Amino acid sequence: MRILLAEDDEPLGRAVRAGLVQAGFSVDWVRDGVAAWNELSVTPYHAAVLDLGLPRQDGITVLRRLRAERSTIPVLVLTARDAVEDRVAGLDGGADDYVVKPVDLVELAARLRALIRRSAGQSTALLESAGLSLDPAARSVQLDGTAVALSPREFDLLHVLMLAGGRVLTREQIEEQLCAWGRELESNSIEVYVHRLRKRLRPELLRTIRGVGYAIGGSAP
Ligand code: CA
Repeated sequence: MRILLAEDDEPLGRAVRAGLVQAGFSVDWVRDGVAAWNELSVTPYHAAVLDLGLPRQDGITVLRRLRAERSTIPVLVLTARDAVEDRVAGLDGGADDYVVKPVDLVELAARLRALIRRSAGQSTALLESAGLSLDPAARSVQLDGTAVALSPREFDLLHVLMLAGGRVLTREQIEEQLCAWGRELESNSIEVYVHRLRKRLRPELLRTIRGVGYAIGGSAP
């Protein structure tokens, strides 16, 4: 899952990015509100972590612009411990959740997983489809009740497809949702991972829609 992090405090930004990468997220990090807006306008992130006190354009303004543009991206704001009014302004401005500084990285990752799950229309902690059960927190997968060992990349690909809930994703959309800046995949990587996933799961669980992309699900198109 790909996240945009907007935080101008270098040590905090570094720590948050490292913590989220550790939890399995792909993270792009910007240091001001204008850059945050620009990136959120062009990249289909699964969620954003937004500091409210940002240079060039504050976090609340970025948030209000996003919601004015009808963006439904889950947004979690970072606020100072004592700033109740910031939390209220964030939530009223369209934030879905907040975490107070100093940031507990385990809590932040858990809250992001919950936001992303809910935005995909899932209320339970597990993503389930056609005998598959994926646990984003434990990063584990079961097929018909039996654990399946996947590499991190295979897990991430399956996660993106399951979040799409049967919708077809193009190879470009999958790449955008998997890869942070500077970590682009080689040109045929998605095909390779799909091929491996089919072998580890059941071939028919991953549909190829020729010339279009891939989807999770049982029947052929
Ligand atoms: Ca700040």
